[in-house]
Amino acid sequence: MKAAVVRSNSDGYVDIKDVTLRPIKPNEVLVKTEYCGLCHTDIHVANGDFGEVPGRIIGHEGVGIVTELGSDVTNLKKGDRVSIAWFYKGCGHCEYCLTGRETLCRDVQNAGYNVDGAMAEEVIADADYAVKVPDDLDPIEASSITCAGVTTYKALKTASIHPGEWVAIYGVGGLGNLAIQWAKNVFKAHVIAVDINDDKLASAKKMGADLTFNSRTEDSGKWIQDKVGGAHAAVVTAVSQVAFDQAVGSVRAGARVVAVGLPKGNMELSIVKVVLDGIQIAGSLVGTRQDLAEAFQLAAEGAIHPIVATRPLADVNDIIDEMKAGKIEGRMVVDFGLPLDAPVKKEAHAVTGR
Ligand SMILES: [Zn+2]
Ligand SMILES: [Zn+2]
Repeated sequence: MKAAVVRSNSDGYVDIKDVTLRPIKPNEVLVKTEYCGLCHTDIHVANGDFGEVPGRIIGHEGVGIVTELGSDVTNLKKGDRVSIAWFYKGCGHCEYCLTGRETLCRDVQNAGYNVDGAMAEEVIADADYAVKVPDDLDPIEASSITCAGVTTYKALKTASIHPGEWVAIYGVGGLGNLAIQWAKNVFKAHVIAVDINDDKLASAKKMGADLTFNSRTEDSGKWIQDKVGGAHAAVVTAVSQVAFDQAVGSVRAGARVVAVGLPKGNMELSIVKVVLDGIQIAGSLVGTRQDLAEAFQLAAEGAIHPIVATRPLADVNDIIDEMKAGKIEGRMVVDFGLPLDAPVKKEAHAVTGR
């Protein structure tokens, strides 16, 4: 079967190769991949940024159909549609796995990094960790919810936002536009979208943001304080240190600042503000199986619609170039139903997102 594997020189690209998977174990299932989105994390893996993994099959936004069951599997059956996420498997018995914080497991396995991922015609999944995709959810949208969708859903949960409160979303690209939709449609919050790109802010407005602010030359923190008396929470998806500094400045006393984006460097924090205003700073990383199941169900009910477009597997390195150049709106999803080795015309890409 064909798979996208990390090159031996970890140059940030992949080769499409014929790969034979090992036989499945009793607790595992074999999944025939339907769709797999390409994420910036995949590019980091291909670059060797987290340690070099030549030969590894990338992909952690996979959705496919179970075709083979290990002898011990009782919770899935052939024909089920399941997802393959970055959180591929935890150890199952540490303090984090036992207390609903399994993504913090110190022995975590990540799809497409330390185990083979879903950017391939077939992928092996652990039956206990392959979250089912509801029948009434578009599988292309599901691939995006497997990563960006659940990450932003979990960030809003971590923000403990209540209906009618103000939440500032910093960075309204691929992650941020989903954060806006969750905040508006599920958490019933008022949303302030902050970015340095006017086009993205215009699309944030369309997604339902109540207020938008371009922070390229002005401090959004001060503006938000003046406008609404400070946000009750801020979620930072921007890969920018300045955004983190402004987010801390944007919130009112008792607020939460949730960090999702991963810029290099340190966050500037006034200890006096954190202590006297009782500010909580929290990191949020992808989501647990339960978070993903909730996100799938809410999306199936129409709470959010990721912006997605489908491409053939042969386009993967082109997509990587387009992502590096910042040319992509939403997510490019490889459709394994398309011919694998022939690039299709760009006009033929179906773009959804309603
Ligand atoms: Zn991802
Ligand atoms: Zn564990």
